[in-house]
Amino acid sequence: MGNSGHNSYFNGVKASDTRILKSINILAVLKVLREVESVSRADIARITELTPATVSSIVSLLMKSGIARETGYGESTGGRPPLMIEFNPQAFYLAGVDLGVSKIIAVVTDLEGNVVSDTRQELDVHLGVESILSSLFDVTHRTLAKAADVRDKIAGLGLSVPGLIDAGRGVSVFAPNIPGWSDIPIAGAFEDEFAYPCWVENDARAMAIGEAMFGAGRGYDNILCVNVGRGIGAGVIINGEVYRGKQGGAGELGHMTIDPNGPVCPCGNQGCLEAMAAGPAIAAAAIRAVSTGSSTLIRDLVDGKIEAITAELVSEAASKGDLLAQRLIIEAGRYLGIGIANAVNMLSPDVVIIGGGVSRAGDILFNEVRATVEERAFTAMVNLPPIVPSAQGEEASSVGAAALVLEEMLAVGNISHTIGGQEAQ
Ligand SMILES: [Zn+2]
Repeated sequence: MGNSGHNSYFNGVKASDTRILKSINILAVLKVLREVESVSRADIARITELTPATVSSIVSLLMKSGIARETGYGESTGGRPPLMIEFNPQAFYLAGVDLGVSKIIAVVTDLEGNVVSDTRQELDVHLGVESILSSLFDVTHRTLAKAADVRDKIAGLGLSVPGLIDAGRGVSVFAPNIPGWSDIPIAGAFEDEFAYPCWVENDARAMAIGEAMFGAGRGYDNILCVNVGRGIGAGVIINGEVYRGKQGGAGELGHMTIDPNGPVCPCGNQGCLEAMAAGPAIAAAAIRAVSTGSSTLIRDLVDGKIEAITAELVSEAASKGDLLAQRLIIEAGRYLGIGIANAVNMLSPDVVIIGGGVSRAGDILFNEVRATVEERAFTAMVNLPPIVPSAQGEEASSVGAAALVLEEMLAVGNISHTIGGQEAQ
Protein backbone atom coordinates (compact mmCIF):
# COMPACT_ATOMS: atom_id res chain seq x y z
CA MET A 1 0.00 0.00 0.00
CA GLY A 2 2.70 2.50 0.96
CA ASN A 3 1.44 6.00 1.47
CA SER A 4 0.16 6.63 -2.04
CA GLY A 5 -3.25 7.54 -0.64
CA HIS A 6 -1.65 10.23 1.42
CA ASN A 7 0.28 11.61 -1.54
CA SER A 8 -2.72 11.78 -3.81
CA TYR A 9 -4.62 13.60 -1.07
CA PHE A 10 -1.88 16.19 -0.94
CA ASN A 11 -1.68 16.47 -4.71
CA GLY A 12 -5.44 16.97 -4.73
CA VAL A 13 -5.14 19.76 -2.22
CA LYS A 14 -2.45 21.49 -4.23
CA ALA A 15 -4.53 21.39 -7.38
CA SER A 16 -7.89 22.28 -5.92
CA ASP A 17 -7.45 24.47 -2.86
CA THR A 18 -4.58 26.93 -2.92
CA ARG A 19 -6.36 28.78 -0.12
CA ILE A 20 -5.32 26.11 2.36
CA LEU A 21 -1.71 26.38 1.21
CA LYS A 22 -1.89 30.13 1.72
CA SER A 23 -3.03 29.43 5.26
CA ILE A 24 -0.11 27.05 5.74
CA ASN A 25 2.20 29.82 4.51
CA ILE A 26 0.64 32.27 6.97
CA LEU A 27 1.19 29.74 9.76
CA ALA A 28 4.84 29.34 8.75
CA VAL A 29 5.38 33.12 8.90
CA LEU A 30 3.53 33.38 12.24
CA LYS A 31 5.67 30.59 13.68
CA VAL A 32 8.85 32.51 12.78
CA LEU A 33 7.44 35.72 14.26
CA ARG A 34 6.54 33.94 17.51
CA GLU A 35 9.92 32.19 17.82
CA VAL A 36 12.27 34.98 16.73
CA GLU A 37 12.12 38.24 18.65
CA SER A 38 12.53 40.64 15.77
CA VAL A 39 13.06 39.66 12.17
CA SER A 40 13.20 41.21 8.68
CA ARG A 41 11.06 40.17 5.72
CA ALA A 42 14.20 38.77 4.06
CA ASP A 43 14.97 36.68 7.18
CA ILE A 44 11.42 35.29 7.16
CA ALA A 45 11.75 34.36 3.48
CA ARG A 46 15.07 32.63 4.16
CA ILE A 47 13.76 30.68 7.19
CA THR A 48 10.40 29.68 5.67
CA GLU A 49 11.75 29.18 2.13
CA LEU A 50 8.78 31.20 0.83
CA THR A 51 9.29 33.76 -1.95
CA PRO A 52 9.92 37.39 -0.85
CA ALA A 53 6.68 38.43 -2.58
CA THR A 54 4.64 35.86 -0.63
CA VAL A 55 6.28 36.89 2.66
CA SER A 56 5.64 40.56 1.92
CA SER A 57 1.98 39.92 1.22
CA ILE A 58 1.51 37.79 4.36
CA VAL A 59 3.30 40.35 6.54
CA SER A 60 0.98 43.13 5.27
CA LEU A 61 -2.03 40.99 6.08
CA LEU A 62 -0.71 40.24 9.60
CA MET A 63 0.09 43.93 10.13
CA LYS A 64 -3.41 44.96 9.07
CA SER A 65 -4.84 42.67 11.76
CA GLY A 66 -2.31 43.92 14.33
CA ILE A 67 -0.71 40.48 14.85
CA ALA A 68 2.58 41.77 13.41
CA ARG A 69 4.10 45.24 13.71
CA GLU A 70 7.19 47.07 12.46
CA THR A 71 9.72 47.96 15.13
CA GLY A 72 12.18 50.13 13.19
CA TYR A 73 15.32 49.53 11.16
CA GLY A 74 17.69 46.64 11.85
CA GLU A 75 21.41 46.23 11.20
CA SER A 76 22.42 46.71 7.58
CA THR A 77 24.21 43.74 6.03
CA GLY A 78 25.62 45.90 3.26
CA GLY A 79 22.64 47.54 1.58
CA ARG A 80 19.67 49.47 2.91
CA PRO A 81 18.93 48.56 6.58
CA PRO A 82 15.86 46.28 6.74
CA LEU A 83 12.60 47.13 8.50
CA MET A 84 12.21 44.72 11.40
CA ILE A 85 8.93 42.97 12.22
CA GLU A 86 7.76 41.52 15.51
CA PHE A 87 4.83 39.48 16.79
CA ASN A 88 2.31 41.54 18.76
CA PRO A 89 0.95 39.32 21.55
CA GLN A 90 -1.63 41.97 22.51
CA ALA A 91 -3.36 41.93 19.11
CA PHE A 92 -5.97 39.53 20.46
CA TYR A 93 -6.80 38.00 23.82
CA LEU A 94 -7.97 34.52 24.82
CA ALA A 95 -10.38 33.42 27.52
CA GLY A 96 -10.00 30.07 29.29
CA VAL A 97 -12.16 28.38 31.92
CA ASP A 98 -11.14 25.26 33.85
CA LEU A 99 -13.81 23.16 35.54
CA GLY A 100 -12.06 21.12 38.23
CA VAL A 101 -13.55 18.67 40.69
CA SER A 102 -13.10 21.10 43.60
CA LYS A 103 -12.63 24.50 41.95
CA ILE A 104 -13.20 26.68 38.92
CA ILE A 105 -10.43 28.87 37.49
CA ALA A 106 -11.03 31.38 34.69
CA VAL A 107 -8.36 33.47 32.95
CA VAL A 108 -7.92 35.99 30.17
CA THR A 109 -4.49 35.84 28.51
CA ASP A 110 -2.72 37.55 25.65
CA LEU A 111 -1.38 35.59 22.66
CA GLU A 112 1.72 34.57 24.66
CA GLY A 113 -0.32 33.11 27.50
CA ASN A 114 0.40 36.02 29.89
CA VAL A 115 -2.55 36.16 32.30
CA VAL A 116 -4.16 39.62 32.41
CA SER A 117 -7.17 38.65 34.55
CA ASP A 118 -8.03 35.58 36.64
CA THR A 119 -10.57 34.30 39.14
CA ARG A 120 -10.51 31.20 41.28
CA GLN A 121 -13.50 29.84 43.15
CA GLU A 122 -14.07 26.72 45.27
CA LEU A 123 -16.75 24.40 43.91
CA ASP A 124 -18.98 21.78 45.47
CA VAL A 125 -19.74 19.38 42.60
CA HIS A 126 -22.54 17.75 44.59
CA LEU A 127 -24.81 20.78 44.12
CA GLY A 128 -25.91 19.58 40.69
CA VAL A 129 -25.44 20.41 37.02
CA GLU A 130 -27.48 23.66 37.01
CA SER A 131 -25.56 25.02 39.98
CA ILE A 132 -22.17 24.09 38.44
CA LEU A 133 -23.09 25.79 35.15
CA SER A 134 -24.23 28.95 36.92
CA SER A 135 -20.98 29.01 38.96
CA LEU A 136 -18.99 28.60 35.72
CA PHE A 137 -20.86 31.53 34.14
CA ASP A 138 -20.43 33.65 37.26
CA VAL A 139 -16.65 33.08 37.51
CA THR A 140 -16.30 33.78 33.77
CA HIS A 141 -18.35 37.01 33.96
CA ARG A 142 -16.20 38.25 36.85
CA THR A 143 -12.98 37.43 34.99
CA LEU A 144 -14.17 39.21 31.82
CA ALA A 145 -15.28 42.23 33.88
CA LYS A 146 -11.74 42.50 35.31
CA ALA A 147 -10.41 42.44 31.72
CA ALA A 148 -12.85 45.13 30.52
CA ASP A 149 -10.19 47.14 28.64
CA VAL A 150 -9.34 44.18 26.36
CA ARG A 151 -12.77 42.57 26.25
CA ASP A 152 -13.53 43.55 22.65
CA LYS A 153 -10.24 41.95 21.55
CA ILE A 154 -11.05 38.49 22.96
CA ALA A 155 -11.00 36.04 20.06
CA GLY A 156 -12.84 33.19 21.76
CA LEU A 157 -13.25 31.10 24.87
CA GLY A 158 -11.85 27.66 25.64
CA LEU A 159 -13.18 25.25 28.26
CA SER A 160 -11.23 22.59 30.09
CA VAL A 161 -13.32 19.83 31.68
CA PRO A 162 -12.40 16.51 33.26
CA GLY A 163 -13.30 13.21 31.63
CA LEU A 164 -14.51 12.41 28.14
CA ILE A 165 -15.39 15.17 25.69
CA ASP A 166 -16.68 15.35 22.12
CA ALA A 167 -14.65 18.25 20.72
CA GLY A 168 -16.54 18.31 17.40
CA ARG A 169 -19.94 18.81 19.06
CA GLY A 170 -18.59 20.86 21.99
CA VAL A 171 -20.03 18.37 24.47
CA SER A 172 -18.70 17.31 27.87
CA VAL A 173 -19.71 13.65 27.59
CA PHE A 174 -18.86 12.25 31.02
CA ALA A 175 -16.90 13.38 34.07
CA PRO A 176 -16.29 10.51 36.50
CA ASN A 177 -15.99 12.65 39.65
CA ILE A 178 -18.94 15.01 39.01
CA PRO A 179 -22.26 13.38 39.92
CA GLY A 180 -24.97 13.62 37.22
CA TRP A 181 -22.65 15.34 34.73
CA SER A 182 -23.19 13.70 31.34
CA ASP A 183 -23.74 14.90 27.76
CA ILE A 184 -23.57 18.60 28.67
CA PRO A 185 -23.49 20.79 25.47
CA ILE A 186 -21.15 23.12 27.31
CA ALA A 187 -19.56 24.98 24.38
CA GLY A 188 -23.02 25.92 23.06
CA ALA A 189 -24.14 27.03 26.52
CA PHE A 190 -21.10 29.34 26.79
CA GLU A 191 -21.63 30.67 23.25
CA ASP A 192 -25.22 31.60 24.18
CA GLU A 193 -24.09 33.28 27.40
CA PHE A 194 -20.99 35.13 26.17
CA ALA A 195 -21.33 35.39 22.36
CA TYR A 196 -17.74 34.27 21.74
CA PRO A 197 -16.81 31.22 19.67
CA CYS A 198 -16.22 28.48 22.26
CA TRP A 199 -14.37 25.17 22.30
CA VAL A 200 -14.11 22.39 24.85
CA GLU A 201 -11.21 20.06 25.64
CA ASN A 202 -10.32 17.46 28.24
CA ASP A 203 -8.28 18.97 31.12
CA ALA A 204 -5.08 16.99 30.54
CA ARG A 205 -5.11 17.78 26.80
CA ALA A 206 -5.86 21.46 27.49
CA MET A 207 -2.85 21.45 29.81
CA ALA A 208 -0.71 19.84 27.09
CA ILE A 209 -1.78 22.44 24.50
CA GLY A 210 -1.06 25.29 26.93
CA GLU A 211 2.36 23.92 27.85
CA ALA A 212 3.16 23.35 24.15
CA MET A 213 2.20 26.89 23.14
CA PHE A 214 3.30 28.92 26.16
CA GLY A 215 5.05 26.76 28.74
CA ALA A 216 7.46 23.90 29.38
CA GLY A 217 6.65 22.22 26.04
CA ARG A 218 7.50 25.20 23.84
CA GLY A 219 9.84 24.21 21.02
CA TYR A 220 9.11 20.47 21.30
CA ASP A 221 7.10 18.48 18.74
CA ASN A 222 6.42 15.35 20.83
CA ILE A 223 5.07 15.98 24.31
CA LEU A 224 3.65 13.79 27.05
CA CYS A 225 1.86 15.97 29.61
CA VAL A 226 0.59 14.20 32.73
CA ASN A 227 -2.02 15.80 34.99
CA VAL A 228 -1.88 14.29 38.49
CA GLY A 229 -4.57 15.53 40.85
CA ARG A 230 -7.82 13.93 41.97
CA GLY A 231 -7.34 11.60 38.96
CA ILE A 232 -4.51 11.04 36.47
CA GLY A 233 -4.85 11.92 32.78
CA ALA A 234 -2.40 12.58 29.97
CA GLY A 235 -2.30 14.92 26.99
CA VAL A 236 -0.23 13.66 24.09
CA ILE A 237 1.17 15.84 21.30
CA ILE A 238 2.71 13.99 18.37
CA ASN A 239 4.56 15.84 15.59
CA GLY A 240 3.09 19.10 16.87
CA GLU A 241 -0.51 17.88 16.83
CA VAL A 242 -2.78 16.90 19.69
CA TYR A 243 -3.52 13.18 19.67
CA ARG A 244 -7.13 12.55 20.71
CA GLY A 245 -7.64 8.94 19.62
CA LYS A 246 -10.90 7.30 18.69
CA GLN A 247 -13.80 9.39 20.06
CA GLY A 248 -11.35 11.44 22.15
CA GLY A 249 -10.54 8.49 24.38
CA ALA A 250 -6.71 8.75 24.29
CA GLY A 251 -4.57 9.64 27.29
CA GLU A 252 -6.21 7.60 30.05
CA LEU A 253 -2.83 6.98 31.64
CA GLY A 254 -4.51 6.81 35.06
CA HIS A 255 -6.19 3.55 34.10
CA MET A 256 -3.04 1.81 32.96
CA THR A 257 -2.63 -1.30 35.13
CA ILE A 258 0.42 -1.01 37.40
CA ASP A 259 -0.36 -3.92 39.75
CA PRO A 260 -2.94 -6.52 38.64
CA ASN A 261 -3.59 -7.35 42.32
CA GLY A 262 -3.55 -3.72 43.46
CA PRO A 263 -6.30 -1.63 45.06
CA VAL A 264 -9.68 -1.26 43.35
CA CYS A 265 -9.96 1.82 41.12
CA PRO A 266 -13.19 3.87 40.78
CA CYS A 267 -13.32 2.49 37.19
CA GLY A 268 -13.82 -1.03 38.57
CA ASN A 269 -10.42 -2.46 37.63
CA GLN A 270 -7.65 -3.32 40.06
CA GLY A 271 -4.26 -1.66 40.43
CA CYS A 272 -4.78 1.25 38.02
CA LEU A 273 -2.10 3.98 38.28
CA GLU A 274 -4.78 6.40 39.49
CA ALA A 275 -5.70 4.08 42.38
CA MET A 276 -2.04 4.06 43.47
CA ALA A 277 -0.64 7.55 42.82
CA ALA A 278 -3.43 10.16 42.49
CA GLY A 279 -4.36 12.52 45.34
CA PRO A 280 -7.03 10.30 46.96
CA ALA A 281 -4.65 7.30 46.93
CA ILE A 282 -1.96 9.34 48.71
CA ALA A 283 -4.52 10.59 51.24
CA ALA A 284 -5.86 7.05 51.83
CA ALA A 285 -2.35 5.68 52.39
CA ALA A 286 -1.67 8.51 54.85
CA ILE A 287 -4.91 7.86 56.74
CA ARG A 288 -3.98 4.16 57.04
CA ALA A 289 -0.51 4.97 58.33
CA VAL A 290 -1.64 7.69 60.76
CA SER A 291 -4.41 5.51 62.21
CA THR A 292 -1.86 2.81 63.08
CA GLY A 293 -0.28 5.40 65.35
CA SER A 294 2.82 6.28 63.30
CA SER A 295 4.51 9.39 64.57
CA THR A 296 4.05 12.13 62.00
CA LEU A 297 3.50 15.83 61.44
CA ILE A 298 0.48 14.95 59.29
CA ARG A 299 -1.58 14.26 62.43
CA ASP A 300 -0.73 17.71 63.84
CA LEU A 301 -1.69 19.43 60.57
CA VAL A 302 -5.26 18.09 60.86
CA ASP A 303 -5.48 18.47 64.67
CA GLY A 304 -5.92 14.71 65.00
CA LYS A 305 -8.95 14.62 62.62
CA ILE A 306 -7.43 11.96 60.42
CA GLU A 307 -10.38 11.83 57.98
CA ALA A 308 -9.46 15.42 57.02
CA ILE A 309 -6.06 14.31 55.63
CA THR A 310 -5.53 15.30 51.98
CA ALA A 311 -2.68 14.78 49.51
CA GLU A 312 -1.91 18.53 49.79
CA LEU A 313 -1.36 18.16 53.54
CA VAL A 314 0.88 15.13 52.97
CA SER A 315 2.94 17.25 50.51
CA GLU A 316 3.11 20.06 53.04
CA ALA A 317 4.33 17.70 55.78
CA ALA A 318 6.84 16.13 53.37
CA SER A 319 8.29 19.52 52.45
CA LYS A 320 8.71 20.22 56.19
CA GLY A 321 10.84 17.10 56.54
CA ASP A 322 8.25 14.64 57.89
CA LEU A 323 9.64 11.18 57.13
CA LEU A 324 6.31 9.32 56.84
CA ALA A 325 4.93 11.98 54.48
CA GLN A 326 8.12 11.82 52.39
CA ARG A 327 7.83 8.03 52.20
CA LEU A 328 4.22 8.33 50.95
CA ILE A 329 5.16 10.91 48.27
CA ILE A 330 8.12 8.74 47.19
CA GLU A 331 5.83 5.72 46.91
CA ALA A 332 3.39 7.68 44.71
CA GLY A 333 6.38 8.92 42.67
CA ARG A 334 7.55 5.34 42.12
CA TYR A 335 4.15 4.23 40.76
CA LEU A 336 3.91 7.38 38.67
CA GLY A 337 7.41 6.67 37.34
CA ILE A 338 6.38 3.13 36.35
CA GLY A 339 3.34 4.47 34.47
CA ILE A 340 5.41 7.19 32.77
CA ALA A 341 8.17 4.69 31.85
CA ASN A 342 5.52 2.57 30.10
CA ALA A 343 4.20 5.63 28.25
CA VAL A 344 7.76 6.73 27.35
CA ASN A 345 8.45 3.28 25.88
CA MET A 346 5.32 3.62 23.76
CA LEU A 347 5.67 7.26 22.62
CA SER A 348 9.33 8.27 22.98
CA PRO A 349 8.39 11.91 23.67
CA ASP A 350 10.87 14.83 23.53
CA VAL A 351 9.74 15.96 26.97
CA VAL A 352 7.50 14.78 29.83
CA ILE A 353 5.65 17.53 31.70
CA ILE A 354 3.90 16.81 35.00
CA GLY A 355 1.21 19.16 36.33
CA GLY A 356 -1.77 19.01 38.69
CA GLY A 357 -2.06 19.27 42.47
CA VAL A 358 0.11 16.25 43.30
CA SER A 359 2.97 17.57 41.11
CA ARG A 360 3.37 20.46 43.54
CA ALA A 361 5.00 18.03 45.97
CA GLY A 362 8.13 19.16 44.11
CA ASP A 363 11.59 17.57 44.11
CA ILE A 364 10.72 14.71 46.48
CA LEU A 365 8.20 13.46 43.90
CA PHE A 366 10.10 14.41 40.74
CA ASN A 367 13.40 12.83 41.86
CA GLU A 368 11.63 9.51 42.43
CA VAL A 369 9.74 9.72 39.12
CA ARG A 370 13.00 10.47 37.25
CA ALA A 371 14.90 7.67 39.00
CA THR A 372 12.13 5.15 38.27
CA VAL A 373 11.82 6.15 34.60
CA GLU A 374 15.60 5.93 34.25
CA GLU A 375 15.55 2.47 35.80
CA ARG A 376 12.59 1.09 33.87
CA ALA A 377 12.33 2.79 30.47
CA PHE A 378 13.94 0.99 27.55
CA THR A 379 16.78 3.33 26.76
CA ALA A 380 19.16 1.25 24.70
CA MET A 381 18.48 3.29 21.56
CA VAL A 382 17.28 6.72 22.62
CA ASN A 383 18.04 9.25 25.31
CA LEU A 384 15.50 9.69 28.06
CA PRO A 385 13.30 12.77 27.79
CA PRO A 386 13.63 15.47 30.45
CA ILE A 387 10.84 15.20 33.08
CA VAL A 388 9.82 18.70 34.15
CA PRO A 389 7.05 20.42 36.13
CA SER A 390 4.29 22.34 34.39
CA ALA A 391 5.24 25.99 33.82
CA GLN A 392 1.73 27.25 34.56
CA GLY A 393 1.15 25.66 37.99
CA GLU A 394 -2.42 25.73 39.21
CA GLU A 395 -3.56 27.68 36.14
CA ALA A 396 -2.17 25.11 33.66
CA SER A 397 -5.57 23.83 32.53
CA SER A 398 -7.23 27.27 32.39
CA VAL A 399 -4.32 28.78 30.44
CA GLY A 400 -4.45 25.60 28.32
CA ALA A 401 -8.14 26.21 27.66
CA ALA A 402 -7.21 29.72 26.48
CA ALA A 403 -4.47 28.21 24.30
CA LEU A 404 -7.16 26.04 22.72
CA VAL A 405 -8.63 29.23 21.22
CA LEU A 406 -5.24 30.11 19.71
CA GLU A 407 -4.89 26.56 18.42
CA GLU A 408 -8.29 26.89 16.73
CA MET A 409 -7.41 30.37 15.40
CA LEU A 410 -4.22 28.99 13.88
CA ALA A 411 -5.81 25.82 12.51
CA VAL A 412 -5.33 25.53 8.80
CA GLY A 413 -8.35 27.06 7.09
CA ASN A 414 -9.32 29.23 10.09
CA ILE A 415 -6.42 31.63 9.98
CA SER A 416 -7.54 33.79 7.02
CA HIS A 417 -10.96 34.10 8.60
CA THR A 418 -9.51 35.03 12.00
CA ILE A 419 -7.33 37.81 10.72
CA GLY A 420 -9.96 39.47 8.62
CA GLY A 421 -11.14 37.10 5.94
CA GLN A 422 -8.60 38.39 3.45
CA GLU A 423 -6.37 36.18 1.41
CA ALA A 424 -2.61 36.31 1.17
CA GLN A 425 -0.68 35.17 -1.85
ZN1 LIG B 1 -9.02 2.61 36.73
